[in-house]
Amino acid sequence: MTGKKITNLPFIPHSSSNTGGVEASLIDVGKRLVAAGLTYSRMGNISARAGDMMLISATGSFLDRLKGEIVKVPLDAGEPPSRASSDALIHLGIYLRTEARGIVHTHSPFLVALSALIRAHAFRPLDIEGRYYLGEIPIVSGATGSRNLARALARELQTHPCAVVRFHGAFARGESLYDAFHYVACAEHSCMVKYLVLLAQRTKKR
Ligand SMILES: [Zn+2]
Repeated sequence: MTGKKITNLPFIPHSSSNTGGVEASLIDVGKRLVAAGLTYSRMGNISARAGDMMLISATGSFLDRLKGEIVKVPLDAGEPPSRASSDALIHLGIYLRTEARGIVHTHSPFLVALSALIRAHAFRPLDIEGRYYLGEIPIVSGATGSRNLARALARELQTHPCAVVRFHGAFARGESLYDAFHYVACAEHSCMVKYLVLLAQRTKKR
Protein backbone atom coordinates (compact mmCIF):
# COMPACT_ATOMS: atom_id res chain seq x y z
CA MET A 1 0.00 0.00 0.00
CA THR A 2 1.51 3.35 -1.01
CA GLY A 3 1.35 6.67 0.81
CA LYS A 4 4.10 7.57 3.26
CA LYS A 5 3.68 6.28 6.79
CA ILE A 6 2.35 8.90 9.20
CA THR A 7 3.71 9.07 12.73
CA ASN A 8 2.85 11.01 15.89
CA LEU A 9 -0.91 10.79 15.32
CA PRO A 10 -3.34 9.41 17.95
CA PHE A 11 -3.48 5.62 17.83
CA ILE A 12 -6.78 3.91 18.57
CA PRO A 13 -6.67 0.13 17.95
CA HIS A 14 -8.96 -1.24 15.21
CA SER A 15 -10.17 -4.76 15.89
CA SER A 16 -13.45 -6.63 15.91
CA SER A 17 -13.25 -6.85 19.71
CA ASN A 18 -12.92 -3.10 20.10
CA THR A 19 -15.64 -1.46 18.03
CA GLY A 20 -16.01 1.09 20.86
CA GLY A 21 -12.47 2.30 20.12
CA VAL A 22 -13.22 2.44 16.40
CA GLU A 23 -16.41 4.43 17.04
CA ALA A 24 -14.41 6.87 19.19
CA SER A 25 -11.92 7.38 16.35
CA LEU A 26 -14.76 7.99 13.85
CA ILE A 27 -16.33 10.60 16.15
CA ASP A 28 -12.95 12.27 16.71
CA VAL A 29 -11.89 12.34 13.03
CA GLY A 30 -15.37 13.55 11.97
CA LYS A 31 -14.95 16.58 14.24
CA ARG A 32 -11.41 17.19 12.97
CA LEU A 33 -12.53 17.13 9.31
CA VAL A 34 -15.19 19.79 9.92
CA ALA A 35 -12.94 21.89 12.20
CA ALA A 36 -10.28 21.90 9.45
CA GLY A 37 -12.86 23.09 6.87
CA LEU A 38 -12.35 19.94 4.78
CA THR A 39 -16.12 19.32 4.67
CA TYR A 40 -19.23 20.56 6.51
CA SER A 41 -22.96 20.16 7.09
CA ARG A 42 -24.22 16.77 5.81
CA MET A 43 -21.52 16.51 3.10
CA GLY A 44 -19.06 13.61 3.13
CA ASN A 45 -18.76 10.35 5.06
CA ILE A 46 -16.14 8.33 6.93
CA SER A 47 -15.59 4.70 7.84
CA ALA A 48 -13.12 2.39 9.58
CA ARG A 49 -12.42 -1.34 9.35
CA ALA A 50 -13.01 -3.39 12.51
CA GLY A 51 -12.15 -7.05 11.90
CA ASP A 52 -14.60 -8.34 9.29
CA MET A 53 -16.87 -5.32 9.74
CA MET A 54 -16.92 -1.75 8.47
CA LEU A 55 -18.20 1.01 10.73
CA ILE A 56 -19.52 3.92 8.64
CA SER A 57 -21.32 7.22 9.21
CA ALA A 58 -25.09 7.05 8.73
CA THR A 59 -26.69 8.58 5.65
CA GLY A 60 -27.43 12.29 6.11
CA SER A 61 -25.33 12.54 9.27
CA PHE A 62 -23.23 15.57 10.27
CA LEU A 63 -19.59 14.46 10.45
CA ASP A 64 -18.98 16.57 13.57
CA ARG A 65 -21.96 14.96 15.39
CA LEU A 66 -21.53 11.22 14.82
CA LYS A 67 -22.50 9.92 18.28
CA GLY A 68 -25.35 7.44 17.65
CA GLU A 69 -24.93 7.93 13.88
CA ILE A 70 -22.54 5.05 13.09
CA VAL A 71 -23.68 1.89 11.25
CA LYS A 72 -21.98 -1.53 11.35
CA VAL A 73 -21.80 -3.28 7.98
CA PRO A 74 -20.23 -6.74 7.32
CA LEU A 75 -17.43 -6.43 4.73
CA ASP A 76 -19.11 -9.17 2.65
CA ALA A 77 -22.48 -7.35 2.61
CA GLY A 78 -23.55 -7.30 -1.04
CA GLU A 79 -26.15 -4.63 -0.35
CA PRO A 80 -25.37 -2.27 2.58
CA PRO A 81 -28.27 -1.34 4.91
CA SER A 82 -30.21 1.77 3.88
CA ARG A 83 -29.23 3.60 7.09
CA ALA A 84 -25.55 3.46 6.08
CA SER A 85 -24.06 6.30 4.01
CA SER A 86 -25.18 6.27 0.37
CA ASP A 87 -21.47 5.81 -0.48
CA ALA A 88 -21.22 2.60 1.60
CA LEU A 89 -20.74 0.52 -1.56
CA ILE A 90 -17.67 2.60 -2.46
CA HIS A 91 -16.18 2.15 1.03
CA LEU A 92 -16.80 -1.63 0.90
CA GLY A 93 -15.14 -1.85 -2.54
CA ILE A 94 -12.04 -0.05 -1.25
CA TYR A 95 -11.76 -2.30 1.85
CA LEU A 96 -12.11 -5.43 -0.26
CA ARG A 97 -9.43 -4.37 -2.77
CA THR A 98 -6.89 -2.64 -0.49
CA GLU A 99 -5.43 -2.97 3.00
CA ALA A 100 -7.12 0.28 4.07
CA ARG A 101 -8.21 0.52 7.71
CA GLY A 102 -9.82 3.95 7.43
CA ILE A 103 -11.50 5.95 4.64
CA VAL A 104 -12.64 9.57 4.52
CA HIS A 105 -14.74 11.25 1.85
CA THR A 106 -14.97 15.06 1.79
CA HIS A 107 -16.37 17.78 -0.46
CA SER A 108 -13.27 19.95 0.05
CA PRO A 109 -13.72 23.13 -2.05
CA PHE A 110 -10.25 23.45 -3.66
CA LEU A 111 -10.18 19.75 -4.56
CA VAL A 112 -13.56 20.07 -6.27
CA ALA A 113 -12.55 23.33 -8.00
CA LEU A 114 -9.34 21.85 -9.43
CA SER A 115 -11.14 18.71 -10.60
CA ALA A 116 -13.36 21.05 -12.65
CA LEU A 117 -10.44 23.13 -14.00
CA ILE A 118 -8.01 20.31 -14.89
CA ARG A 119 -8.89 18.12 -17.86
CA ALA A 120 -6.16 15.52 -17.27
CA HIS A 121 -6.89 12.32 -15.36
CA ALA A 122 -4.44 13.14 -12.58
CA PHE A 123 -3.13 16.17 -10.74
CA ARG A 124 0.50 16.49 -9.60
CA PRO A 125 0.96 18.72 -6.52
CA LEU A 126 3.36 21.67 -6.79
CA ASP A 127 4.22 21.66 -3.09
CA ILE A 128 6.89 19.35 -1.68
CA GLU A 129 4.66 17.96 1.10
CA GLY A 130 1.97 16.99 -1.39
CA ARG A 131 4.48 15.29 -3.70
CA TYR A 132 6.03 13.40 -0.79
CA TYR A 133 2.80 12.04 0.67
CA LEU A 134 0.56 11.79 -2.40
CA GLY A 135 2.74 11.48 -5.51
CA GLU A 136 -0.15 12.44 -7.73
CA ILE A 137 -3.91 12.66 -7.22
CA PRO A 138 -5.97 10.68 -9.77
CA ILE A 139 -9.27 12.21 -10.97
CA VAL A 140 -12.10 9.76 -11.74
CA SER A 141 -15.68 10.20 -12.95
CA GLY A 142 -18.90 8.35 -12.21
CA ALA A 143 -22.40 8.60 -10.79
CA THR A 144 -22.68 8.92 -7.01
CA GLY A 145 -23.05 5.56 -5.29
CA SER A 146 -22.69 3.58 -8.56
CA ARG A 147 -20.78 0.29 -8.84
CA ASN A 148 -18.73 1.76 -11.74
CA LEU A 149 -17.52 4.61 -9.54
CA ALA A 150 -16.83 2.17 -6.69
CA ARG A 151 -14.64 0.05 -9.02
CA ALA A 152 -12.78 3.08 -10.45
CA LEU A 153 -12.02 4.49 -6.99
CA ALA A 154 -10.92 1.14 -5.56
CA ARG A 155 -8.58 0.68 -8.54
CA GLU A 156 -6.93 4.09 -8.06
CA LEU A 157 -6.72 3.74 -4.28
CA GLN A 158 -4.77 0.50 -4.65
CA THR A 159 -1.78 2.63 -5.70
CA HIS A 160 -2.63 6.16 -4.44
CA PRO A 161 -3.68 7.31 -0.96
CA CYS A 162 -6.16 9.88 -2.29
CA ALA A 163 -8.32 10.21 -5.44
CA VAL A 164 -10.87 12.82 -6.53
CA VAL A 165 -14.27 12.29 -8.12
CA ARG A 166 -14.63 15.08 -10.69
CA PHE A 167 -17.06 17.87 -9.65
CA HIS A 168 -17.72 15.99 -6.39
CA GLY A 169 -15.01 15.41 -3.77
CA ALA A 170 -12.11 13.33 -2.50
CA PHE A 171 -11.76 9.79 -1.15
CA ALA A 172 -8.64 9.01 0.90
CA ARG A 173 -7.65 5.74 2.56
CA GLY A 174 -4.96 4.94 5.09
CA GLU A 175 -3.51 2.40 7.48
CA SER A 176 -5.64 4.21 10.06
CA LEU A 177 -8.46 6.75 9.94
CA TYR A 178 -5.93 9.39 11.01
CA ASP A 179 -3.71 8.56 8.02
CA ALA A 180 -6.72 9.00 5.72
CA PHE A 181 -7.48 12.35 7.40
CA HIS A 182 -3.88 13.46 6.82
CA TYR A 183 -3.95 12.49 3.13
CA VAL A 184 -7.14 14.39 2.38
CA ALA A 185 -5.80 17.43 4.28
CA CYS A 186 -2.58 17.27 2.22
CA ALA A 187 -4.57 16.95 -1.01
CA GLU A 188 -6.77 19.95 -0.20
CA HIS A 189 -3.67 22.00 0.71
CA SER A 190 -1.97 21.02 -2.58
CA CYS A 191 -5.07 21.98 -4.58
CA MET A 192 -5.31 25.35 -2.78
CA VAL A 193 -1.64 26.09 -3.56
CA LYS A 194 -2.10 25.09 -7.21
CA TYR A 195 -5.28 27.18 -7.50
CA LEU A 196 -3.57 30.27 -6.01
CA VAL A 197 -0.58 29.88 -8.35
CA LEU A 198 -2.87 29.58 -11.40
CA LEU A 199 -4.79 32.66 -10.24
CA ALA A 200 -1.61 34.69 -9.70
CA GLN A 201 -0.28 33.69 -13.14
CA ARG A 202 -3.54 34.71 -14.79
CA THR A 203 -3.62 38.06 -12.95
CA LYS A 204 0.01 38.76 -13.95
CA LYS A 205 -0.76 38.28 -17.66
CA ARG A 206 -3.43 41.03 -17.60
ZN1 LIG B 1 -19.92 13.06 -1.67
